[in-house]
Amino acid sequence: MPEPTATPPLKTLPLVFEEPRKARRPPRHLADMSSQARCEAVVAAGLPAYRAKQVSHHYFSRLVDDPAEMTDLPADLREPLATALLPKLLTPIHTLEADGGTTRKTLWKLHDGALVESVLMRYPGRVTMCVSSQAGCGMACPFCATGQGGLQRNMSTGEIVEQVLAGARSLARGEVPGGPGRISNVVFMGMGEPMANYNAVIASVRRMTDPAPDGLGMSARGITVSTVGLVPRMLQMAEEQIPVTLALSLHAPDDELRNELVPINTRWSVREAVAAAWNYARVTKRRVSIEYALIKDINDQAWRADLLGELLTSYGDWGWVHANLIPLNPTPGSKWTASRVEDEREFVRRLEAKGVPTTVRDTRGREIDGACGQLAATSL
Ligand code: SAH
Repeated sequence: MPEPTATPPLKTLPLVFEEPRKARRPPRHLADMSSQARCEAVVAAGLPAYRAKQVSHHYFSRLVDDPAEMTDLPADLREPLATALLPKLLTPIHTLEADGGTTRKTLWKLHDGALVESVLMRYPGRVTMCVSSQAGCGMACPFCATGQGGLQRNMSTGEIVEQVLAGARSLARGEVPGGPGRISNVVFMGMGEPMANYNAVIASVRRMTDPAPDGLGMSARGITVSTVGLVPRMLQMAEEQIPVTLALSLHAPDDELRNELVPINTRWSVREAVAAAWNYARVTKRRVSIEYALIKDINDQAWRADLLGELLTSYGDWGWVHANLIPLNPTPGSKWTASRVEDEREFVRRLEAKGVPTTVRDTRGREIDGACGQLAATSL
């Protein structure tokens, strides 16, 4: 008989410390898998492999995810197939509209309660879907609302792809003014740093570009991956043989200011980031985009325009680069605002004088906090 002790036996202690520390992974979805892996998943569920192709066709080509609509499948197989391949990954919380309904921001809840946002923008002749790649972001750029909340977690391939499919479905259903349409462009400019979730992002690009019915069959040229400048990943992406457009968020041509605006610059400098962008253009023959948010009296001085022009043209003038200036969008708690119109104009003039093709981004969705840098996924 053991001696009675003052402490209760272990199993009656509260289990707080035994809670799993690691977040549950999102359920595995058809869009997470290569076509081979889909066949294996279907076989594992006790069904013939060719059923995977049929479900892929419904999902990617017909934009159907409701098993009831998969009428070429035997009725008793629809549910098991949907369970094996199409678990629900995103739950819409709300959608806000601007520009007469042609800009639509959706707040999504993920399986573990994490919140992310995506934005659909319809222009004459094209539709761009701006997707998130992480819940939150760890890059801490002080002018970006997402950066203020820190990183919650990486998104899975399926969660990334589902944002595009959700947009495609609402377009196909005619929910966006302008009649039924298709997604022509995807930009990784929503929440998160795509290069910090590299494998899932590249796999999602493959799903978008794989020919139907294995993927959406989009052109890689219509897909833009935007990064703060994680140099090793930029070098790696140049070797992937998928010619997506690369955008580098530079925001300052000098390390002193960039260290403040884009803190990862203390790890990879302006020179290193621009060299990696140039290398991407050299290897892929795709013109890269240099993103530059114009912030009044912070980075919009004429001398910085000259310095940026010199920096970019120092790698040659063979059309490897263009500058995309973004008037700063306001974010809560930030004292910074967009540049004066005359300073913006002078900045453009000086860059063009150096021979750098320059555009000023037509910013959509400001009034619904859906513009660049405004996605915080908190607006409930
Ligand atoms: N993390 C990636 C992608 C997300 S942000 C990146 O930084 O590139 C997409 C673009 O919006 C980036 O160029 C980013 O610097 C810019 N941006 C962030 N906050 C902004 C703001 N408040 N106004 C204008 N552009 C902003």
